[in-house]
Parts: sequence; structure tokens; C-alpha cells
Amino acid sequence: MNYGAIKYCDIANGVGVRTSLFVSGCRVHCPGCFNGEAQDFSYGLPFTRETADEIVESLRPSYVRGLSLLGGDPMEPEHQSELLALCEL
Ligand code: SF4
Repeated sequence: MNYGAIKYCDIANGVGVRTSLFVSGCRVHCPGCFNGEAQDFSYGLPFTRETADEIVESLRPSYVRGLSLLGGDPMEPEHQSELLALCEL
């Protein structure tokens, strides 16, 4: 799985302060997609264990409410096992 961006202390993609992960790859092809580069499954950087550990660390402060999974489409089958593992971490 690749990802296009990680936003820390994000207040635009969910309730409260969050970490937002934008995974790469989407087959929905909405008309007027706001994030066209993220439709490409090879866009961005490889998601590694180190990336996952950085995200987990970012969620530790008490002011952080949670993790938002965005894209691309985080529900694409190629993403599900790694994102489930991240959520379990
Ligand atoms: S990235 Fe989002 S807006 Fe763009 S086609 Fe996919 S679901 Fe639609």
C-alpha cells in the first residue's frame, strides 16, 4: 500500500484533533474528484512498519481524538489488511 500524505494535528477531517492518513488508490472515479492523483495505487510513498509506528506515536497525546483514514479510497481491497493492522496497533 502507498500513501500520499499524513497530516498530524489535523482538525479538518473528523472530530477534534486527529492524525489523517491519505492512502493511494481509488476505483470510484467520482466526477470532479478533488484528489485525482490519489486514484493511482502507486502514488506517493510505501506504507511501512515505521510509518505505522509514527502514526501510533502521534495518537498518544491526550488532546488527539483519533485517526482518520482517507484517500484515495481506504476501503479498496488492497488496503484493508494493512489498515486493519494499523487500527489494531
Ligand atoms: S479519491 Fe475520493 S473523491 Fe476521488 S474518485 Fe476516489 S472516492 Fe471519489
